Amino acid sequence: MPRQLLVPLSILAGAIIGSFLNVVIFRLPRHESLVAPRSRCPACGGELHWFDNIPVVSFLALRGQCRACGASIAWRYPIVEAGTAGLFALAAWRTTSLIDLGVAWVFLSALVAIAAIDLEHQIIPDRITLPGIIVGFLSSFLGTRISWIDSLLGILAGGGILFAVIVLSGGGMGGGDMKLGAMMGAFLGYKLALLALFVAVLLGGAVALGLLTTGIRKRKDPIPFGPFLAAASAFTLLWGKELLGWYLRVFSLSV
Ligand SMILES: [Zn+2]
Repeated sequence: MPRQLLVPLSILAGAIIGSFLNVVIFRLPRHESLVAPRSRCPACGGELHWFDNIPVVSFLALRGQCRACGASIAWRYPIVEAGTAGLFALAAWRTTSLIDLGVAWVFLSALVAIAAIDLEHQIIPDRITLPGIIVGFLSSFLGTRISWIDSLLGILAGGGILFAVIVLSGGGMGGGDMKLGAMMGAFLGYKLALLALFVAVLLGGAVALGLLTTGIRKRKDPIPFGPFLAAASAFTLLWGKELLGWYLRVFSLSV
C-alpha cells in the first residue's frame, strides 16, 4: 500500500481505536463491561449521541462540555484519541511490513491504556499485561522484527530485572510493573526491552527530579513508573534500532 494512503488511514484508525481505549481506561479499573452499555456522561449519566462521540472533533465542537449537563469532559479523552492517532501514523511511517504494523498497533494500544490507567489509578491491570505477554510472544512468529527466542528472552529479562528491582527496593514498584516489563520484552525482544528500561529510568528520574525541585510533588508522593515504561517502550519500538546503533558507536569510540 502506498505510504501517502497508509499514513492518513493510520490516523483515522488510531483516532477510532483511541476512542475505544478511552472506554477501556474508564471502565477496566471499575470492573465494568467494555462493550455495553453505550457511552454515558459520567456526571449526568446521559447517553451520548453518535455525533458527540467522534474522536477529538466532538470534544472541540462541544468546547469540552457535556451537551446535556455542561459538566466538563476530561482532557484525557482528546489527548488519548489524538495521541493514539499520532502513534499509529508514526508506526506506519516507521514500519515496512503490514504484519509488523498490525503488531505495533496492538502493542501501542496496550501501552496507551496502561499509561493512562496507571496515571489515574496507580495500577497496571493484569487484564492487559498478561494477555499482552502471550500476544507479544505469539506475534514474534508472524512478524519480521524479532524471533521467538528474542521474545522469550525479552519476557525473562524484562520481567526478571523489574522483579529484582522490586525485591531490592522493597516497595515503590509493584508486581504490575514487573508484568509490564515482561510484556515489553515479549513485543520488543530482549535487546530493545533492556534499552527501553534504561530510557524509562532516565526519563522517570528526570521528570521526578523536576516535580520534586519545583515542589509539584513531595518526596513521599508516589509517582507511577508505568507511564515512563510505556513511553520508553513506544519510543524504542519506533526508534530503538537507531538509538542502539548510535549508542554503540559512541560507546565504541570512547573505549
Ligand atoms: Zn452530562
